[in-house]
Formats: sequence, C-alpha cells, structure tokens
Amino acid sequence: MTAMSQFLDTLTKTLEPTQIKTEPSDLEFFGKDHTKHFTPAPTAIVFPKTTEQVATIVRLANEHNICLVPSGGRTGLSAGAVASNGEVVVSFDKMNAIGTFYEADRMVEVEAGVVTKTLQDFAQSKDLYYGVDFASAGSSQIGGNIGTNAGGIKVIRYGMTRNQILGLTVVTGKGDILELNGGMMKNATGYDFRHLFIGAEGTLGFVTKALIKLEKQPVNLTAMVLGVPDFGSVVKLLDKFGKALNLTAFEFFDSVAIDKVLTAGHAKEPFETRTPFYVLLEFEAVSDDVLDIAIGIFENCMENGFIVDGVMSQSVGQLHDLWKLRESISETISVFTPYKNDVSVLITHLSNFINDIEKIVKDNYPDFEVCWFGHIGDGNLHLNILKPDNLSKDEFFDKCKTVNQYVFETVRKYKGSISAEHGVGMTKKPYLEYTRSPIEIEYMKALKAVFDPNGIMNKGKIFD
Ligand SMILES: Cc1cc2nc3c(=O)[nH]c(=O)nc-3n(C[C@H](O)[C@H](O)[C@H](O)COP(=O)(O)OP(=O)(O)OC[C@H]3O[C@@H](n4cnc5c(N)ncnc54)[C@H](O)[C@@H]3O)c2cc1C
Repeated sequence: MTAMSQFLDTLTKTLEPTQIKTEPSDLEFFGKDHTKHFTPAPTAIVFPKTTEQVATIVRLANEHNICLVPSGGRTGLSAGAVASNGEVVVSFDKMNAIGTFYEADRMVEVEAGVVTKTLQDFAQSKDLYYGVDFASAGSSQIGGNIGTNAGGIKVIRYGMTRNQILGLTVVTGKGDILELNGGMMKNATGYDFRHLFIGAEGTLGFVTKALIKLEKQPVNLTAMVLGVPDFGSVVKLLDKFGKALNLTAFEFFDSVAIDKVLTAGHAKEPFETRTPFYVLLEFEAVSDDVLDIAIGIFENCMENGFIVDGVMSQSVGQLHDLWKLRESISETISVFTPYKNDVSVLITHLSNFINDIEKIVKDNYPDFEVCWFGHIGDGNLHLNILKPDNLSKDEFFDKCKTVNQYVFETVRKYKGSISAEHGVGMTKKPYLEYTRSPIEIEYMKALKAVFDPNGIMNKGKIFD
C-alpha cells in the first residue's frame, strides 16, 4: 500500500464519505484556480467541517508525507491554489458558517470558507460595511483572501485584507491549532503570528476562522468617470481629488479595456468622447458642500486639460452602472487568455514608472494588444497582454515571459513589488528576487521550517 493510499484509507475512517472526492471531474474542478498555466493533477479533495478535522488531516499528512494544497474559491491569479503534483487539496467549501457577531466591537467571526460577498451582505444586514471588495467577491472566500492578503477597489480607504483581520484560528503545518490575537485592538505581548499567516498563501498552515473588523456604512457614495488625455493627467487627478475629498476608490483603465467591455455589452458608454485613459473615482458625498468641491475640481481640471470629458453618478443605479465599466474588465478580457502582471510602486514614482514600462511594451510587444487597468490610487497597475489568435497558449506565455525580466527590472529600479495583490504562487515564483532580497527569502524559508517542518504545506508556492 502506498503512503497516499494509507493516508486516504485512514481519512475514510475518520471523515464522512461526502468529505472525500476522487472523481476525475472533481480533481479537475478543485485542482485549479483562475490561471491557465498549469495542468491540475491532485490525487484527492478533502472537505473538513471543523478546525479539529483540519488538524487531524494535517497530522496524518505529516505521518505519511503527503503534500496539502489549501483551496478557497479558486479565483486566485497566481496559481497559489493549483495542485499539479498529485497533492491532496483541502477545500473549505464545507466550513462556511458566520459565527458570533460582537456588536460592541463591530466584529464578526467567520469560517474560512465564507464567500467574500456573503460577509459583505452580513455586514450590510447589521448596518455595517466590510471594506474589501473586488470583481471576484461573489466566489472568493475569506480564507483565500487572507492567504493572498487581497486588496481590491477600496484599499485607498480601508486598506488590504490584513487591515480587517483582528484575530485568526490557524492549523500550522505541524498540525497545532493556534488562536491568534483573539480580536483585540491592542495586544502588545510579543510576536503577532496573525500577520505571518496573512499573505502566506497557505505555506505555513491553514486559516480556519477569522475575526473580522466591520466599518461604518459609507454615506451617499458617488462616482465620477473621467476621460483623460494621458497617464500624467491620471496622476494629477489623483493628487487634486485625493487632497480635497475623502476618496473611497481611485481606479483607472485604458481605451483598450473600455473598448472590450463596451463591445461585450458588459457596461454602458459613459459619454461619447473616447480618450486614451479613464479614471473612476468614488467619494462619500456627505453634503452638498462636498459635491460642490468635487464639481469645482472637475471644472478646474477641464480648464487645465487634465480632463477631456466626464460624468458623475446621480443615483445608486448610475453608481452601479459606472462601476460596471471597471469591474467587468477582468472577466471581459479573460477570453483573450491574458498574460497578467500585477505590479506596484510608490505613487511618487508612478508617472516615470509607467513611461518606462510603456517603452518596454512598445519595443517588445509591437504586435500584441495591451490592456492597462488598476487600483492606481494605491500605486497598483495591472498590465495585461492579450493573446493573439495565431499563437498557442504556450508560445504566447513563453514570449511574454521573456519580457518579464525588463518589466521586473523596472519594478526593482523603483523599489516596487512584482505582485501587489495577486500573490506569488507559482506564476511569479521565478521573479521573487526582484522584490525580496536573497537574505529575506532565507528568513522566509527559516520561518516556514518552524511552522511546517516537513514542508507539506502548499509545496512549491512562493519559493522552492
Ligand atoms: C475577475 C477577478 C478579479 C479579481 N480582482 C482582484 C482584486 O481586485 N484584488 C485582489 O487582491 N485580487 C483579485 N483577484 C484575485 C483573487 O480573487 C484573490 O486573490 C482572492 O483573494 C482569492 O481568493 P480565493 O478564495 O479564490 O482563493 P484561492 O484562489 O482558492 O487561493 C488563494 C491562495 O490562498 C490559499 N488559501 C486558500 N484558502 C486558504 C485557507 N483557508 N488557509 C490558508 N491558505 C488558503 C491558497 O492555497 C492560495 O495560495 C481577482 C480575481 C478575478 C478572477
């Protein structure tokens, strides 16, 4: 009997039959995320229902030297949840309960498999707000969001997922259950392991529960979509609107992105004029004075040529319509098998950085269609190269990879990040040293060895 059959045999005696799947269609479905770089090939999928069951699975996996892949909503864009080497996938689909709501603390405990949108809706039902949002919120899970330290469209106001987490329950790679921070705002008692597990991509252990901070509901959210002539103007608008208004979002996209979205019928044309770049900004219009300030800046920027055309939402319906322009981009372009880069630099460096990158793109991808969008308010740009019909996926990805070196050298030049919010997983693993020094990576490996001494947790992700 192989170690794997012994492992599965023992698990079959511990879990219910519905908690283990080995059908080829299930292996294919649960063995991959949103990326298309690697072929899924797990051996089995297990569905724990409690933290204790997760701990049992981990201890048993250590005994039999079985590699485990934590799996959330599988919307990840770095192949972090892909199992392509016969691993056992641990899915959190059956751990999706919303637990205690601590009203006085504005905090709720959720299991790792709660879908992000479900948490947003729960917060709304309590007249509160969950401050993390993005286009995949209807499928991604809190455990996956914590694994990647997900960002999204509201980071400029609420911060990344890390900023929402007041406590965690985790099962380490050794199989120990740790309760981290207990939801406290203040706790100065040494190392805060909670933060190690946020953004660890499941390489240290499993997150099974989280204590999540909820915010006050924003008031009268109002959006503007602005057509702008060049990237320099995008940065000027960020400065002008950002100084005067309490922004909740500041996003940008280019003419290729809007073209694809409008052609696919996923959103309505905001105005007739077509411009090279677009900004979508959102703020709380708490009074008429705030609206007047916003309109004043808009007019001033029109006069100075930073804005060519624009529109402001007048109702919740219009707010949602304008957001569709930005929120539909990822799904719309996914049919073109995009090669994605998700980079960030200081806002101070944005203009110079994008000039450098545009040159690299022009020199190296003269025949490829390139689509830019991103959370520019927090220095985060998504560069998407779209696959032409005449190239196979592998030929296309190979060509894109050769240019990565130039893109990431530019990221390094500006001391930026090769992965702002999507994680490293397997797709960005070869480029980690462009952002993290070799000595830092050695410390990371040493930390992993403490929590996961047998190296069974999400092996081959972030680093080898
Ligand atoms: C259309 C679209 C738009 C997107 N927009 C954004 C965006 O704006 N901002 C952004 O940050 N991301 C975005 N993403 C990427 C993705 O949605 C996020 O990375 C999200 O956090 C992944 O959550 P998930 O549950 O799908 O995780 P998965 O893809 O299942 O897993 C992600 C990582 O977390 C690990 N993991 C999963 N569950 C656990 C657990 N319980 N314990 C420990 N580790 C775990 C996995 O092993 C993997 O390494 C987008 C994706 C799509 C498809």
